[in-house]
Amino acid sequence: MKYVSRKLAKLQAYDPGTVSTAIRLDSNESFLSLPETLRESIADRITSVKFNRYPDPIGKSVCKAFGQYYNVDPQNITLGNGSDELIFLLFNTFLQKGDRALLVNPDFSMYPIYCGMAEIDPITLKKNESLTFDPDELISLAKKQHPKMVLFSNPCNPTSQGISAKDVLEIVDNLDCLVVIDEAYMDFWNEAIYQEAPKRKNCIVLKTLSKVGLASVRLGFAIANNQLSIYLRTAKSPYNVNTLTQIVGETVLLESNYLHSATQQICASRDALYNALKPYNGPFMHVFPAHANFVTIQTLYAEKIQKKLRERGISIRCIGQLLRITAGTLKENQILVNTFSSCIKEGL
Ligand SMILES: *Cc1c(COP(=O)(O)O)cnc(C)c1O
Repeated sequence: MKYVSRKLAKLQAYDPGTVSTAIRLDSNESFLSLPETLRESIADRITSVKFNRYPDPIGKSVCKAFGQYYNVDPQNITLGNGSDELIFLLFNTFLQKGDRALLVNPDFSMYPIYCGMAEIDPITLKKNESLTFDPDELISLAKKQHPKMVLFSNPCNPTSQGISAKDVLEIVDNLDCLVVIDEAYMDFWNEAIYQEAPKRKNCIVLKTLSKVGLASVRLGFAIANNQLSIYLRTAKSPYNVNTLTQIVGETVLLESNYLHSATQQICASRDALYNALKPYNGPFMHVFPAHANFVTIQTLYAEKIQKKLRERGISIRCIGQLLRITAGTLKENQILVNTFSSCIKEGL
């Protein structure tokens, strides 16, 4: 294709894996819909938006609300059009052709794609059988290979496994390169380090509102020290987050009771789903403990199971030998578990 660059021509389009089935447990969205009262507050505020004006480029109000909810200084927050945009920016502006990035595998499928777009060579640390990695091994690989940036999600999508806050900080403090921790799912676990990022010279933590119920609005956050935050704001396009998104984000973040309760409900659903699937642990299937808003299963029959479930109106994600099942409503979880059980009983 002569109208596009070679780097674009060799990329494959992202396949979100979503199909129109009755039950969708394939995208790690929240199963909760926003309460009526919150919808009304949002609607009220939207009626007075100055639609003729550009959005606030920094998003002062939403940064303040985020800062209050998560206890971070707003100065240390940069907004993104989803955290995806921030990942794209990091590869394309903090790094340049010839630089290398250290990734782990398996991890979020978009990392190698953005890495490729930026013409960055990835160094990849393969995870062990428990789908995690030894922080010291990562440190020594980085010391040998000199990447400009290390990036991984914690807890990880698609494995639902993670490493402790102590281990993450050991990596940050032992490396003299940028270390980016994607805490997209940390609302559902307790090994967060985002509050440490502003105190470090080389650390950026990414967060998002997508997994706690606002996937539609596209709002992500980078937390870093003042200097890195200034660079992030320089790198982004000035009006990357629109006014409507800023209003929705701010309104929901200020409703901290709601957000806490939503997070708890998602964790409860995740635990229930894990407990219901755990009995399927066996020689041909491993159900991993769940630390995010989904349960990960490793099996040679992953693709077959995914296909059978899809035929019965349930969509889950299949990544190689991994099945990733998002926690849904009580009823969705029940249907999933029953259907999963009958697929297995039928034989694979
Ligand atoms: C979902 C996800 C994101 C993307 O978040 P958005 O804010 O919706 O762009 C980033 N990182 C990981 C690991 C994710 O799973």
